[in-house]
Amino acid sequence: MMQNQHHLRRNAKNKAQSQYEFRFVDHHKNIKNILVVVDMIPDSTNSVTSLLDITNLKQAEELLKENEEKLITQNLELKLAKQEADNNQSNLELFIKKSPIPMVITDFNEKVEYVNDKFIQIFGYTIKDLPSAQKWWELAYPNLEYRLYVQESMNLAIQKAIDTKSDIEMQKWHIYTKNRKKKTCEFYMVPIENRFLIVIKDITKEIQNQKELIKAKEKAEESDRLKSSFLANMSHEIRTPMNGILGFTELLKEPDLTGDEQKMYIDIIKRSGDRMLDTVNDLIDISKIETGQMLTVKSEVNINDEMDVLYSFFKPEVENKGLKLEWLYQVPEDVNIIQTDKHKLHSILTNLIKNAIKYSDVGEIEIGCYKEQQFLEFYVKDEGIGIPKNRIEAIFQRFEQVDVLDARAFEGSGLGLAICKAYAEMLGGSIWVDSTLGVGSVFYFNIPILK
Ligand code: ADP
Repeated sequence: MMQNQHHLRRNAKNKAQSQYEFRFVDHHKNIKNILVVVDMIPDSTNSVTSLLDITNLKQAEELLKENEEKLITQNLELKLAKQEADNNQSNLELFIKKSPIPMVITDFNEKVEYVNDKFIQIFGYTIKDLPSAQKWWELAYPNLEYRLYVQESMNLAIQKAIDTKSDIEMQKWHIYTKNRKKKTCEFYMVPIENRFLIVIKDITKEIQNQKELIKAKEKAEESDRLKSSFLANMSHEIRTPMNGILGFTELLKEPDLTGDEQKMYIDIIKRSGDRMLDTVNDLIDISKIETGQMLTVKSEVNINDEMDVLYSFFKPEVENKGLKLEWLYQVPEDVNIIQTDKHKLHSILTNLIKNAIKYSDVGEIEIGCYKEQQFLEFYVKDEGIGIPKNRIEAIFQRFEQVDVLDARAFEGSGLGLAICKAYAEMLGGSIWVDSTLGVGSVFYFNIPILK
């Protein structure tokens, strides 16, 4: 190459290169890179040549080139990694957006920045509905007092988490949806950099189910309690008169009984039989009512006559107990005769009067009936033991007695008022009571005036 250049420079000067590189081996056997710069001495065939050792330069250049290549590959890798990260990020965003659990992102001032699809579906608010933190609080917690309480509790929970370097405790609040439905929710707040991710669990249904379960449990316990008390009552209600009948029948066998004694024993046997019949009738009636087999048979009923029959029938019994029976007002002629079920009307009044006698030791029992708009209103008033306020609802339910646990002082199955209530309703009316403990009770019921 050098020879070639040498000749060219002398014969065709323009074609020769004035500098070029080559490599040679020095006497230490090292390979050297050399830059040759050649120029002719004017008007002669001699040339001046400088040889520059550029080995280091060359190496540095190569290194640079290598680094450059590396840099390019690194750049490429970086680019790919970024693309993947971007993909992952949008995947994560998609997960949050499509999560089956409502999620919200707020800044540290509680301004809502993002709500996911489930949140919108359950609570109705879109991000546009929540332009400020204040707006969110007002919509979700319309009651000011409750809102302040929630805010304060939340701040306390956050502070506690900061102090103890632990997670923010789960919060449970009632919040209102956009269409004003109240929901009970659990809030899990996770601080991430300068935001909160809030995961919300709607537990409204769970709470509702729990409440229903508790109710069902209480009902079951109540039924159990009633069943036990009913069984105890029934055995008492059947055994007592049965003992009366058997005992006094035995006594009747005695040969030298006086006429009066015989009369007294037979009387006791008869009363025991009546009492047992009452119980059995009550049982049959209540089971007919409960199975829907109790029908009403309407006919013309003369109310004043009916009241008169009852008054005359119960007067001796009432007076026997040292009480007084009053019937003060007759029904006006124009409403005295109505269409109703005579047997049921009679039954309600009989039950109420019997109770009045049973639950009074002193005073007066007053019965009566008056017109009240389109109804006849009957009442049975006594000055007996009265009923505690918290039992007034219950006594109209079957088997219920004021004192379910200790009802032994009074006989009775606890069915009478349940039958009265069913009958009053079958006749188109209702039954209720005004009572003061220790003062007395007034039982009322009404039936429509049907001609
Ligand atoms: P019972 O056979 O026990 O009398 P009822 O259904 O007739 O059953 O009455 C239910 C309960 O209501 C009674 O056990 C009693 O505690 C209360 N009660 C009913 N009538 C009266 C009344 N006139 N005064 C006080 N308590 C009454």
